[in-house]
Amino acid sequence: MSVFGFRRPGGRRLASGLLALGLTLGAAAPATARTIIRDSEIERTIKREAEPVLSAAGIPVSDVRFFIVQDPSFNAFVADGRTMGINTGALLDMATPEEVMAVMAHEAGHMAGGHHARRGDALRAARGQMILTTVLGLAAGAAAGSGDVAAAGVIGGQQIGMRAALGFSRGEESAADQAAIGYLERAGVDPSAMNRVIERLRRQEMLISIRDPYVLTHPMTADRADGVAERIARSPLKGAPPDPERAYWHARLKAKLAGFLQTPARTLAAWPTSDLSEPARLARASAYHKSALRDQALAEMEALLAARPSDPWYWELRGQIRFESGDPSGAVTDYQRAVSLAPEEPLIRVAYGQALLASGQVEAGRDALIQSIRQDELNPNAWRQLSIAAGRLNDQGLALTAAAEALALGGDVKSAKAQAERAQAVLPHGSVWWMRAGDILALPDARR
Ligand SMILES: [Zn+2]
Repeated sequence: MSVFGFRRPGGRRLASGLLALGLTLGAAAPATARTIIRDSEIERTIKREAEPVLSAAGIPVSDVRFFIVQDPSFNAFVADGRTMGINTGALLDMATPEEVMAVMAHEAGHMAGGHHARRGDALRAARGQMILTTVLGLAAGAAAGSGDVAAAGVIGGQQIGMRAALGFSRGEESAADQAAIGYLERAGVDPSAMNRVIERLRRQEMLISIRDPYVLTHPMTADRADGVAERIARSPLKGAPPDPERAYWHARLKAKLAGFLQTPARTLAAWPTSDLSEPARLARASAYHKSALRDQALAEMEALLAARPSDPWYWELRGQIRFESGDPSGAVTDYQRAVSLAPEEPLIRVAYGQALLASGQVEAGRDALIQSIRQDELNPNAWRQLSIAAGRLNDQGLALTAAAEALALGGDVKSAKAQAERAQAVLPHGSVWWMRAGDILALPDARR
């Protein structure tokens, strides 16, 4: 798992060894840092939960990009027709995958209802390279909950008011609820999960001091809650049993997130050593790793791999633990296994490439990183690692282009352009990387 935010090009190590780059917001925005979490397994689980409700809404899951925002408050948002963000606070708070599906179905209701089209569409103005910064800006603006807050992502000189971008009317809320219940039913899910989410929001409406951003952008009314309760009461899917496969992956998601984000003490209290379930071992592996208890962490991974020897994410996590505890060659072996089990997962491939670099296999590392970028161009860490690899191989043009890409993804367009200009000076005119650098030079300048 890695964590991406922006503006601190060198990055900083968290206790667990997660790579975090903090986002510093502009002067108009609150001084808050937010980061996007990238994890192949968690993203896969979220897509698994989103897929049935999005398809029911007529939205192909492949058209939607999901962003997991590291933020303890409860929030989920759709920034345009194809970008959905969800806070770690919401993921950790929701007890069942069906609750996550209910929130996603509600957001899909806004998407399918075209509720975004009627307001300033922040992301439509954002070019590929700027999307990550914009999503973080939206998350931050939503958390601030004020219509006067300008986004950190001031895109193409355009300031975006958060209420204008994200807040919905009461009529839109009820319409999204009703649509959502229909999607849940079509997906074969008991819509009662929706009631639990609504109840939570209602409790919050009464507590002025601790309102989550979700309440602010999705206004709650008694009418709205009644409308949902009424519809659920007569749903043929009421009481339908939950899907055990979905419950399994959701339990893993929560354990993994908690293990990485919470203190080891809290994790070990929630998943004591007497609990021999997979999620418990997964959570403890991270907690031990964060506490530099390498042997205990690896012992939990042994048990997990014995239970599921073909699970790419268990191999990936063991690779990460070995990598971060100073064993890059061991990590290469584990990541190689993970990549062969899940060749379509670019995030695992980036980690593999990084481990190859660290163990001195620079050319193989460069190739793995390029392959990962072919699968996912929006990963600043992949570009940064590629820049390092190319630098070691004395490929100055590629090193500069990759550095420019990483900077552009981080929202630092000015520095990105400077690097792209240097790259074009050394690259053969008209070559692939020369054109890539040209794309960066054509980006609009962000104004503050
Ligand atoms: Zn809403």
